[in-house]
Amino acid sequence: MASDPKTLSQSGLLSAEANQAAALAAYGGVLTVDLDAIIANWRKLEKTAVPAECSAVIKADAYGCGAEQVSRALSRAGCRTFFVATLEEARKVRAAVPEPTIYVLGGYFQNTGEHYAKFNCRPVIGDLNELAEWDVFCRRSGWTGGAAVHIDTGMNRLGLTLADAQAIIPRINAGDHGITLVMSHLASAEQLNSPTNAKQLATFRSIASEFTGVPAALANSSGIFLGAPFQFDLVRPGAALYGVNPTPEADNPMQPVVELKARIVQIRNIERGESVGYGGTWTARRPTKLAIIAVGYADGYFRAASSNDGTRGADVIVAGKRCPIAGRISMDLIAIDLTDLPPNAARRGHMVTLLGDGITVDELAHHFGTIGYEVLTSLGHRYARVYKGGDVVEPLARPEPEASAGQPPSPLPIEQPAAPPPLPS
Ligand SMILES: *Cc1c(COP(=O)(O)O)cnc(C)c1O
Repeated sequence: MASDPKTLSQSGLLSAEANQAAALAAYGGVLTVDLDAIIANWRKLEKTAVPAECSAVIKADAYGCGAEQVSRALSRAGCRTFFVATLEEARKVRAAVPEPTIYVLGGYFQNTGEHYAKFNCRPVIGDLNELAEWDVFCRRSGWTGGAAVHIDTGMNRLGLTLADAQAIIPRINAGDHGITLVMSHLASAEQLNSPTNAKQLATFRSIASEFTGVPAALANSSGIFLGAPFQFDLVRPGAALYGVNPTPEADNPMQPVVELKARIVQIRNIERGESVGYGGTWTARRPTKLAIIAVGYADGYFRAASSNDGTRGADVIVAGKRCPIAGRISMDLIAIDLTDLPPNAARRGHMVTLLGDGITVDELAHHFGTIGYEVLTSLGHRYARVYKGGDVVEPLARPEPEASAGQPPSPLPIEQPAAPPPLPS
């Protein structure tokens, strides 16, 4: 039993470093989520939007950062309202945080009312059919948990048309309507000067004012930075919490949250003229030293960031220096050109940095040909995941009372707080 790393870690016999080293033998990379940075980002957004309430959008597993951990940390920090995309996401978040309000953005589906009651969450209703079905459920069950009404103001995605929204004003005026939030969503908030912003604001302001006594919400992350008129009673930041720049035309006011490191599994030297990787698209122009690292596109590191003879792809930080990728990114592996490093700066077993230490989510997004949102939500599940900060009380490796000999082994535990492993000297 003593050699079982889980048992060792639970009894506190392994240091954080040793534990992480043990975990690394089983994983190619380590993804660290800094919960304190998420809290700091939430506080900053809250301050920017005051007196509006600051909620947190934690759909898509909190943009890949872990909805359970993020909701727990933010709820401890004082966040009282969360938004998820689906009922299943709501179920997981409710299991983590008993108190806060949870809204489900994806709309109401017939015959799912009982689940809303069971998880004590609220649908964000986007058309009159949904509203009618929700009303039927509430009448039959006596459930009074509330719902949001989403009004479309120009994005043409989800939400009641303005005419349909007008049609339910009499119900609002009659009182006891069960509507706890009226909201809309901005289509171009990250473009400071887009005329769409002012148009949507005017439309929403006018319709929301008829929802007497119902709190209103319009702004996502970028919307918060469009100024006080956009903030209404509640703001709904997502991406900015996780370090994506909500003001792409200016410096990023948010702290970085996610760090991704990978292990060098092999160092190799090749001759001038030799090529690297699938398709041989990258050719060594000098005697070249390569590091092969254990992360690839199956881990959410997009193949679009590959290098070839014409274009330099993304950078990876090795021994404190930016080094270029060499050739195509494979499913599980990437080659990096180390030739410009001092001779023994990097060795097999060392960790390199793919995200963090100055490589931002937005920089990667540029190389991936996408936006920071997709970089985060694509983060793979093959990494060892480490959570830093967040006043985490319970250790990650909890005893599992139902575990029995017949079950598959659980992932190797990572102790908290886990510092990145030191480079072997
Ligand atoms: C995803 C989402 C948000 C959060 O948007 P960010 O740009 O990530 O801040 C807010 N509101 C709605 C309706 C959303 O779907």
